[in-house]
Amino acid sequence: MFMNYLIVGSGLFGAVFAHEAAKRGNKVTVIEKRDHIAGNIYTKEVDGIQVHEYGAHIFHTSNKKVWDYVHQFADFNRYTNSPVANYKGHMYNLPFNMNTFSEMWGVKTPQEALDKINEQRQEMAGKEPKNLEEQAISLIGRDIYEKLIKGYTEKQWGRKCTELPAFIIKRLPVRLIYDNNYFNDDYQGIPIGGYTKMVEKMLDDPNITVKLNIDFFDKKDEYLKNYDKVVYTGMIDKFFDYKLGELEYRSLRFETEEKNVGNYQGNAVINYTEAEIPYTRIIEHKHFEFGKGDKDKTIITREYPADWHRCDEPYYPVNNDCNNALYTKYAKLAKNQYKVIFGGRLGQYKYYNMDQVIDAALKAVNENLGD
Ligand code: FAD
Ligand code: UDP
Repeated sequence: MFMNYLIVGSGLFGAVFAHEAAKRGNKVTVIEKRDHIAGNIYTKEVDGIQVHEYGAHIFHTSNKKVWDYVHQFADFNRYTNSPVANYKGHMYNLPFNMNTFSEMWGVKTPQEALDKINEQRQEMAGKEPKNLEEQAISLIGRDIYEKLIKGYTEKQWGRKCTELPAFIIKRLPVRLIYDNNYFNDDYQGIPIGGYTKMVEKMLDDPNITVKLNIDFFDKKDEYLKNYDKVVYTGMIDKFFDYKLGELEYRSLRFETEEKNVGNYQGNAVINYTEAEIPYTRIIEHKHFEFGKGDKDKTIITREYPADWHRCDEPYYPVNNDCNNALYTKYAKLAKNQYKVIFGGRLGQYKYYNMDQVIDAALKAVNENLGD
């Protein structure tokens, strides 16, 4: 039996779910409070360049099913993320690899690097890391921690590294080879023509109607009454009117500028790892694509981390023990909302990458709509 679906949010979770529900013959209405589709992966063409309006987005995955899935909607270029860190004017390759160790300590071979790392790790010998600072030092030693991790992380999360959970840093690879590829995944790239075009294709179905500039909370009760099923990809605590308390988020402020030079920084992403510079990174959008854009102009974006208040965009869930425990309570309430499927980074309060969001959306489709 076909049903009427309401999808709240046109980000990746909502778009994948909408596409699959419509393909199976259901009627789908997508409402989106912003004036554009695609959520945080939205890209906008400016001077022939795709500008990542909500921060750098690089698609990477080892999930072949997800990689094949997205190729229905876009071809991907060969972009490989290789950010460079600027610490007080010194440039270091990321992630932590032989290039970084060579720049930091003048070592040349993996054994020399390993000896240096082991010497630096000594201060944590026999101790179980209890916070991010201790985890970083036991992973890579104090020099790299102080120059490449401490300032960046404290800006990003607005807390001392000694007050942050260790898991945040476990994401960063450490390699004893000269390889600046930031990710270990099998597949990586950026959709040619931009992410917005990719999401447009997902939503291009006669069974789908998209309505922009509409906030679910303006008519929550009406929507819940009128639709057979609601897929909700907004903040889970807000859905329940914060009745168990607020979950924490981190926000960001983006400052975008056009420069009258063809090549401003020579790389798509440069991280500023010292505490004194208030932004964490500068993105130069044209370097995500190859040979695109004006040869005398470029567009850059500075990314400033910010505390989150109710009127701000909640870019990152803060998955520490306290917030995760509160989320578990909200997830219990969510189970009793038999009409509503909670999905995505905000609906499931998880630090998902794009591939994980697609995987989660396909699983939700499978559970609710079948193969
Ligand atoms: P969103 O994209 O947030 O979509 C939710 C949508 O719902 C939004 O459009 C929102 O406006 C709408 N909405 C919310 N509430 C309402 C409401 N009440 N009524 C109507 N509409 C509503 N992932 C990677 O894989 N690689 C990267 O390089 C990468 N870089 C990132 C960089 C930054 C700065 C950030 C913040 C994230 C990054 N991510 C990256 C993660 C990626 O953005 C997410 O995994 C993905 O966009 C999440 O999709 P979503 O649909 O869950 O959420
Ligand atoms: N990080 C760091 N220095 C860097 C880049 C990252 O210390 O130059 C730390 C920081 O704590 C960050 C974490 O590593 O929150 C994960 O970084 P990643 O780039 O994977 O996160 P993203 O912001 O893209 O989600």
